[in-house]
Amino acid sequence: MTQQKCNNANCDSNGDYRAPMSPHNLREYKWFCLLHIKEFNKNWNYFEDMNADEIEEFIENDIIGHRKTQKIGAADNDYFKKTNKIRENIFNSFDDAENSEFRPILFDSDYINALAELNIDDKKTSLEIIKSKFKDIVKQLHPDTAGHKEENIEKLKKVLEAYKIIKSKYERNKSK
Ligand SMILES: [Zn+2]
Repeated sequence: MTQQKCNNANCDSNGDYRAPMSPHNLREYKWFCLLHIKEFNKNWNYFEDMNADEIEEFIENDIIGHRKTQKIGAADNDYFKKTNKIRENIFNSFDDAENSEFRPILFDSDYINALAELNIDDKKTSLEIIKSKFKDIVKQLHPDTAGHKEENIEKLKKVLEAYKIIKSKYERNKSK
């Protein structure tokens, strides 16, 4: 295997660390030495141009690894099938209650736990705040900025899951 050189024009070191070409070209890479990958990551505003939905899709497809053709939700993935089913049952059990004055949908334990996962302690917070919080956390945990740590990926999975729980609750509530 030929050894890549660091992408920095003034650097002669080996390029052992990869970085995406650009926010719009995440599937092609350039290579840096340790010093210059750190510099690159510091300057790289990874999710600058993405909205929360695009970030969600990106984590799902590229980081957690439901790669390639799968769209979000179109999971031929057992885990998601199972959890979606469970979640659907929970939601359905709230349907009647939702139609009455009492609307517990935003205050059940799923929702509170999901908020906690995103470090939000105000249960009446807005979806906009939730989305921006989600974006912040993801930025901190992204493997290309935080290093390829298994624990970060695990945390990302949890954060994504939490975000999806919250978002779907808001969407269901809105459509009533
Ligand atoms: Zn270098």
